[in-house]
Amino acid sequence: MDSEVEKLKSAIYRYKHLLKGGTIDLEKTLQLEEIEQELMKMLRDKLASEKVLDKDLISIIDTMFRDSLLAELVSTASQKLDTPVDNIEQAYKDFLTGNIENNEAKVVFVVIQAIARLKAEHEETRHGIVDMITATCPVCGAITRTMTQESTGYYMVCPFCGYKWRVSKSVLTCPFCGNKDPLSLGVFTGKKDRRLGLAWCQSCDITWRIILDERIVKTVPRLFLPVISFGAEIYRGSIEPYREKPSNFSNDT
Ligand SMILES: [Zn+2]
Ligand SMILES: [Zn+2]
Repeated sequence: MDSEVEKLKSAIYRYKHLLKGGTIDLEKTLQLEEIEQELMKMLRDKLASEKVLDKDLISIIDTMFRDSLLAELVSTASQKLDTPVDNIEQAYKDFLTGNIENNEAKVVFVVIQAIARLKAEHEETRHGIVDMITATCPVCGAITRTMTQESTGYYMVCPFCGYKWRVSKSVLTCPFCGNKDPLSLGVFTGKKDRRLGLAWCQSCDITWRIILDERIVKTVPRLFLPVISFGAEIYRGSIEPYREKPSNFSNDT
């Protein structure tokens, strides 16, 4: 088994209890990871010398579409998933319009995710971790609600491509509106278990999830962090009373 797949497997075993109530299809998750790792490996070899990865994601996909590399990847993924894809163009359109319930679009999803992950990896290698106050992934355009709190600051992690950027070096900052005022930002977490938290910005009334335990961030593969952060949803009920009757709150709520 690929070492990245092994890492994911042990992370799932280690932290799936945090998902409380939420379930995860282990076999399917590992199978998809194995396929994506293989696609990424194929692409790394093919694209390394060509500078294609310097382009933005849509242009990369367009280029691959034209030189039939996309077709090659879709064919590999479709064999592994045992799902024939007759019309790649249609499957791609379905994927783009969010119509991913049909199996053909799922195959495309896996392929596009692999390309996006490779692009994210490329950006990080070129520029390191960049500073930006936003919840929209600059690589793939997905909106993320997953933040990590680390000794070097607060970061966002994209659930689709795994790209990571820093929102703030020191104080908690709302990635949606840039609010830094501690009196209108709250983190709701457990009394004993403080590994995950739910953040709420009173200024724009948006909530997002925070992984407060840096050990999780260090041991769990990037793309699985947003999945784990879902465990913070158990604190949602604690926010509601404040939402109904807005007032300042202290940080120990
Ligand atoms: Zn992304
Ligand atoms: Zn805000």
